[in-house]
Order: sequence, then structure tokens, then C-alpha cells
Amino acid sequence: MTQSKKTGVIGFPVDHSISPIIHNHWIKENNIDAVNYEKINIDPEHFEKEVCALIESGISGLNVTVPLKELAFSFAKELTDVSKQTGAVNTLTFKKGTVCGDNTDVIGFQRSLDQKVVDHNIHNKNCLVLGAGGAARAVVCAIHNLGGRVYICNRTLEKAEQIQRFLQTESEVVDQKDLGDVVGEMQFIVNTTSLGLGNTNNTMINFTKVDQGAFVYDLIYNPKLTNFLSDAQKRNIQYQNGIKMLVEQAAESFNIWHNVLPKNSDLLMNKLEGL
Ligand code: NAP
Repeated sequence: MTQSKKTGVIGFPVDHSISPIIHNHWIKENNIDAVNYEKINIDPEHFEKEVCALIESGISGLNVTVPLKELAFSFAKELTDVSKQTGAVNTLTFKKGTVCGDNTDVIGFQRSLDQKVVDHNIHNKNCLVLGAGGAARAVVCAIHNLGGRVYICNRTLEKAEQIQRFLQTESEVVDQKDLGDVVGEMQFIVNTTSLGLGNTNNTMINFTKVDQGAFVYDLIYNPKLTNFLSDAQKRNIQYQNGIKMLVEQAAESFNIWHNVLPKNSDLLMNKLEGL
């Protein structure tokens, strides 16, 4: 008899994650033979030991969130090209005695974008990425795949230079003190920093200098309207938050584990909007 699949998300802390709502919705909707998708706290200091215990318990797939994506990258025995390209893993699959690492944030970000935004604001356009953490790596790769010219700006300049070297895609690093001089030339501006979570305001961009035809994106989805997006809104600049990316990266992980690419339905989006 085959065992029902066990999947979940690991992080530290992971309590804030809404991935279980998304995955459990699709497990039910698609009649997948799987038990409840769960949140599991994993202490980064004991990553290997704790993940090995989960493998022993029969887990077949794990999503990986902050701050474990680089540890998951080192832990995986087989890596997809995209995870090698980003140096981060957000999806682990355990099968036939091996551990496969993938990164679905890249495709998740790409699929979250409206084609009009890709055509008008990204392809052959100047795109500014704020931040240089794990999420920035995925966003830089996605923009590069979509034909955008990437500019990276981060509080810690060296980290921006580090990802520029690591990713080996064409990009320029902007010193934060020069941001005001270049921001008017950007057609796509993405916040990948954690500024805007909780009560921290993101004041990196002076929106009075931003072109009104630009498109502004914040990876944060809670709160739905960060002060970053609210500043864009006040100037009638188009914007979106990170909820669609969260759903799209989850859909690709679901596809890897269950061989079904689930639909991003209004029912699910309403469930998430209502949280
Ligand atoms: P991370 O690796 O910890 O990177 C955090 C980034 O934020 C770094 O660039 C850091 O700059 C910057 N930062 C933090 N505090 C700052 C401050 N006070 N001032 C200026 N910069 C600051 O985190 P991550 O994995 O990249 O995630 C970043 C955000 O993206 C999180 O809010 C996460 O929830 C979100 N995210 C969303 C999705 C989605 O599906 N929507 C997917 C992935 C991530 P330094 O280098 O100077 O420290």
C-alpha cells in the first residue's frame, strides 16, 4: 500500500506562514492523496539533523522560507539549474533516497506579472531591485529572463556587489546615496527588502521623482498595502503586492510534488484576501 504524501513548510520562525492555507486548499480541490500540509519550525543551527528526522518520518516535500533557503541549497544532493543560478532553494523533494533542491520563486515572480507590465515596464527597460537577500536573487534572475536591465540597490552595498558577482547576469549596482539621481529613469521598481513588514516604513524611494508610467512591486503581502505601495498609489503609479507571487511559487512546488499545476482561483484569492 502506498503512503499518503506528507508535505509542509519549514522556517524559523514559520508561524506567520500562510502556505498551509494555499496547499491544503489545492490538496482538497484536486483530490490529492496527501495528509495536511504543515508548518514546521527548524532551528538553523540543527538544520541537517532536524530535516533528516523529517525524512525518516516519511516527508516527501518541503517548502523552505526565511532564513533557511541557503542551508537548503547546501543540503540538497541534486540541484536544478535555477536553484544553482540563484544559490537558494525554496522547494525540497525527497525521493528514491535523494534530496532534490529547486527554486520556484523565480517562476513564481514571473507568473505573477501581467503581460502588459512585462511588455511596457520590463522588456528592454531599466528595472530597479531594492534589496540583496534571497528574494532579490530570484527577482534579479526573473527580470533578466524577461529581458529587463537590472539595477540593484541595497543598504549594505557589498551584499549588492556580492549577488551581482554570484548571479553572473548583466546588472549594475547603485549606491543608496545615488538612488535619487537614477530613480526617475526606472520603469519597474521592486522592493525585495523586509522593510515594510510590521511597523517598519520603507522610505528608500522618493516617489515624487518616479516616472508616472513606472510600475511598482512590493514582495511583501502582509500588510497588503505597505507604505511603499501607498506612496506609489498617492502618485497614481500602478503597483502590486506579493500575494500573487506567493501563490504562483506555491503552485509550482505543488506541481513538482503532485504532478498537478493547480489553478489560481478567485475562491482561493478571496480566502487569502480575507485573512
Ligand atoms: P533576507 O534574505 O533576510 O534579505 C532581507 C533584505 O532586506 C536585505 O537586502 C536587507 O539589507 C534588507 N533590509 C532588512 N532590514 C533593512 C533595513 N532596516 N533597512 C534597509 N534594508 C533592510 O530576506 P528575503 O528572503 O530576501 O525576503 C525579503 C522579503 O521578501 C521578506 O519580506 C519576505 O517575506 C518577502 N518574500 C516574499 C515572497 C513572496 O512570495 N511574495 C517570496 C520571498 C520573499 P542588508 O543586506 O543591508 O541587511
